[in-house]
Amino acid sequence: MKRRPIIAGNWKMYKTKDEALAFIYAVNLSVPNKEDVETVICAPAIFLRDLVKREGENLRIGAQNMHQADEGAYTGEISSLMPAKVLYVEYVVLGHSERRGYNHETDELVNKKLQAAINNDLTPIVCVGESLSTREEGTTTEFVANQVKKAYLNVRADQAVKTVIAYEPIWAIGTGKTATPEQANLTIRSIRNVVAELYSDEVAESIRILYGGSVNTKNVDTLLAESDIDGALVGGASLDPESFLTLAKAALNR
Ligand code: PGA
Repeated sequence: MKRRPIIAGNWKMYKTKDEALAFIYAVNLSVPNKEDVETVICAPAIFLRDLVKREGENLRIGAQNMHQADEGAYTGEISSLMPAKVLYVEYVVLGHSERRGYNHETDELVNKKLQAAINNDLTPIVCVGESLSTREEGTTTEFVANQVKKAYLNVRADQAVKTVIAYEPIWAIGTGKTATPEQANLTIRSIRNVVAELYSDEVAESIRILYGGSVNTKNVDTLLAESDIDGALVGGASLDPESFLTLAKAALNR
């Protein structure tokens, strides 16, 4: 089964407006054709409007978070309706470990956000991944399976198949330590098995599952060479236009 690869940059809380625009101008004519590789930049909410206006034919823009409710008295929050229906953003990162850690997001909350994102036509990139202690205890597969099961509660097969999962071991994020391609592939395969259990073999073979955690221009080829890794969610190495383009082009060979 040929799954279209995705290279998604997660800018986190970096860049000024000028830097964000300069990045888009530097890459939007050079990223691969969207039929071959989906390239996405998940930017701070405040830049989304300006970036969507300039995204070009192939590059797409994503949000990094959204509230689970469509509207309400939630000071400082952004609902999924806003990026989707006002700004025409197409993707949203959900359940990133930094939000789970610093903002106490639970699996139950990720599930609510996932349903809201689906209802409002955003493509969610649902992040899961274990801590170093879980990896050392040898319970990674169970831990990640549980995160996936809770995130996808009450999500139908036809909805799930259009979502994207990102396996991001917490110990590999921003640390320069990458999971070995074999480790990443094994865990991603185990996630695919969970999806098969929840839905069907067909959904499991179609859903895209990315790896994230210190992906860079040096390790991207070996990671993408693995059979189950459908692309990457990239933090640090997505900030530089040349580096992002190199990652995007690496996915062409997948
Ligand atoms: P990193 O971040 O590539 O800087 O490790 C990945 C992420 O947080 O999505």
